[in-house]
Amino acid sequence: MTDIIKLLPDSIANQIAAGEVIQRPASVVKELMENSVDAGADKVQLIVKDAGKTLIQVIDNGKGMTETDARMSLERHATSKITGTEDLFNIRTMGFRGEALASIAAVARMEMKTRTADSDIGQQLVIEGSEVKEQEFCSTSKGTSIAVKNLFFNIPARRKFLKSDPVEMRHILDEFHRVALANPEVEFKLHHNEQQLFFLPPSNLRQRIIGIFGKNYNEKLVPIEEETELANLDGFIVKPEAAKKGRGEQFLFVNNRYFRSSYFHSAVVQAFEGLIPANHHPAYFIFFDVDPSHIDVNIHPTKTEIKFEDERSIYAILRSSVKRSLGQYHVAPSLDFEQETSFDVPHHQLKQPVKQPEIKVDPTYNPFDREKTSKSSNSSWERGSSFQKAPEESWKELYAALSEKTEQEEPVRMHLETASDDSIITFQIGRKYVLIRSDEGVFLLNQYRAHTRILFEEFDALSRANHPVSQQQLFPVTVELSAMEASVFQSSLPTLTTLGFDIDPFGQHAFIVRGVPTICEGMNIEETIAGFMDDIRNDKPSNTEAFREKILRSMAQRSAIKSGTVLEAQEMIALFRNLMRCTQPEIDLGGKSTFVLLNAPQIEKLFN
Ligand code: ADP
Ligand code: MG
Repeated sequence: MTDIIKLLPDSIANQIAAGEVIQRPASVVKELMENSVDAGADKVQLIVKDAGKTLIQVIDNGKGMTETDARMSLERHATSKITGTEDLFNIRTMGFRGEALASIAAVARMEMKTRTADSDIGQQLVIEGSEVKEQEFCSTSKGTSIAVKNLFFNIPARRKFLKSDPVEMRHILDEFHRVALANPEVEFKLHHNEQQLFFLPPSNLRQRIIGIFGKNYNEKLVPIEEETELANLDGFIVKPEAAKKGRGEQFLFVNNRYFRSSYFHSAVVQAFEGLIPANHHPAYFIFFDVDPSHIDVNIHPTKTEIKFEDERSIYAILRSSVKRSLGQYHVAPSLDFEQETSFDVPHHQLKQPVKQPEIKVDPTYNPFDREKTSKSSNSSWERGSSFQKAPEESWKELYAALSEKTEQEEPVRMHLETASDDSIITFQIGRKYVLIRSDEGVFLLNQYRAHTRILFEEFDALSRANHPVSQQQLFPVTVELSAMEASVFQSSLPTLTTLGFDIDPFGQHAFIVRGVPTICEGMNIEETIAGFMDDIRNDKPSNTEAFREKILRSMAQRSAIKSGTVLEAQEMIALFRNLMRCTQPEIDLGGKSTFVLLNAPQIEKLFN
């Protein structure tokens, strides 16, 4: 038999390697931006077209490459960052595998321009599917610009599996945020389809967080700091009141390298225990500084998983530091400081004696505020709407439907619609359910769900009629958004206006809210808009009608009375009556029941 084993040509080997390193446009963004930071740049610009599917370009003012290096940088395992094995245990740069450029060049068309400070003339290269098509001198500014075009042009299967532009853009933003957060002293810009999404001037970490996530983060950040033999730790945690339902801003870095760790995440979660509602997630920006020989960054090709030598101790350090910060800044109730410093690490390992905590009290912080504000926001939902059906008509329909549902012999007769408020018996259970007694039985309403249904139908009618009724604010409220959020918010303004919102752009990424829909009078504007942004910023339907509906839904859900709100009898009756006037009173926006009717036959079943 003849020999059959051959070495793969470089182009194929590189494509295989690329499979691990370059999964989507965001991977290119990460690798190029990290290279710029490694090259000592203090200005980095990212230009993206069509969520990176058409173009990803990174321009930096770093040290650039010589003629030979420019060529060499494209070879697999070509790196300037390590020379021997011992270097593997002392990595301070982001890259070191020498794989990224080779991988990118294997799966896209790459155009590189680069010049070092001591050379007057730069280099220009064009590479397509690992093949250098052109290399010539060019004039270019000091630093490097790499443009990656038509990613996966030669791997159709890969290209086909790319997600929609918003999803790919979300991934790109994630990578951009990570690199920008890790390097606040570097200036970053991001343009997408000719629109500037971010301009982040050199600053400190706090300013950087605000630059990315919006000014309203400023008073939500609580510093965290710890120095031990094993690891130094600093950064910010976000106050519990700002915790969100969806996974939001959770950032861990070690030696300025972003990493994921569900283990360390759970340490933070534990520290927040009892301070945030179930299924909410704490947000944090935490930086570990450890001796590089105590971590292994080499276990994952894109290096987002990192092995720590002494994970359990670091877990304990992290958990107690977070707890202590929450305590020091009076975010958490009382905490035992003594206990909170005694983690697994022996005390003498603490580099510094435990400092007297510097106490900065936020006098306005009140964990029960939520309840108060949502309560006051209800003042006006007793008011009927001119867009609703005549009550009698819908009552009848509803009862007919209900009697079918409950398989009753006798149709339910109700007298509630004519009854005076005083004669109706109401009751609230667990600040969540409203019980209304009628002659035939009791209605049990889920107050939040019922109110979302009412608001949604009202908003729908308002936006269709396009005859907004606005309640002007005595004190207009300014909301600060990030650049990206501002552009999504801007596109939702026409619809919000039809609902009765009176909102104008105000400064670069801010808006001023002068009026709210009359049916939402007294709403907590900041909270509602923050929630609204959470709903729409990552997932904006491209279809206009779908977007309109999404806005209405989100606004209904965000401005509805929350569970936990105490209701007066009047409010409960109004809730019930308004619900019964809806076209689809039985279900909320997710199709779940808004109320159940317990009548004699139903109750009998319960006792079976
Ligand atoms: P790694 O970053 O792991 O070394 P890469 O494939 O990302 O591998 O880059 C290969 C080499 O090319 C780097 O080690 C560096 O010397 C050079 N290089 C890449 N990008 C730049 C840049 N923006 N500026 C200067 N040099 C760069
Ligand atoms: Mg690299």
